[in-house]
Amino acid sequence: MFESFKPIAFKGNTIFIKNKLLDRKVPYERKYTMEFNESIPTIYIEEDGKRIANFIVEPIKENPDLSGQYIHLYTSVTKDFIFMMDGIITKNSNLPDLNKKRDFEGVRFQPLFLANCKLNIESEGKGLFDRGLHYSGQVTPGNVRLVCICDFCKKSFSISSFHTGFSESQYFYSEDGLQTLVVNLWDVKGVPGPLASGVDVDRLKQVEKTLPKPTYGKGRYKYYNSFRCPHCQKPYIDFEKFPELRTKEYYGNVFINKEAQVYRKEEK
Ligand SMILES: [Zn+2]
Repeated sequence: MFESFKPIAFKGNTIFIKNKLLDRKVPYERKYTMEFNESIPTIYIEEDGKRIANFIVEPIKENPDLSGQYIHLYTSVTKDFIFMMDGIITKNSNLPDLNKKRDFEGVRFQPLFLANCKLNIESEGKGLFDRGLHYSGQVTPGNVRLVCICDFCKKSFSISSFHTGFSESQYFYSEDGLQTLVVNLWDVKGVPGPLASGVDVDRLKQVEKTLPKPTYGKGRYKYYNSFRCPHCQKPYIDFEKFPELRTKEYYGNVFINKEAQVYRKEEK
């Protein structure tokens, strides 16, 4: 079958989604190996001839030049018309045995709601579970980076997430949402744990006063500070607007190639 008759088609760095062809075929999936021609490649998504996303694949500092490398993409459209895409970056065109090779670079792209989407989803300012970047009951490996799209400026940015449940820790974002502090629950009494039910706001305020200042982010670290777009600084995970999301969002996030500030007991 010609590529142009397929509901999801590929050419170079562009992925074409055709709603009409998808209609009776969802759920639908296709794999594709894309070669990168640039050190910082972009994957373009078009839906019925309209550009709906530019995903920039920011390299990690251990592998800074992606030109000549490959991404093995797994793309799908769910029965509700949500486009999903995951990828594995490799130096040659063969996909390694991921059960044997643990040090692969995985990429998960923010799911896109297509024009035919049957669900009435308001994802603006929501968390990573609501956006389909993490799944509850399924741990996202630490070597999978997430490529997000800002709800406002539509630019993409890459983040890595860490699971606070396993490390018995809590995260705090700086006021400009650009830096992340990690606090071990045992080091500071009164820090709400992951999935905490009911947060004592007065106690939390006392706790926040004891936290160190961000080293490059602006303002104080606060539990309900939002995680923000690094381009326009509008909230991406808007905890100020949706405080009820905060305890459920048990993954903390840092921008790619940055490290979280770690609270040490003697710091003030
Ligand atoms: Zn933005």
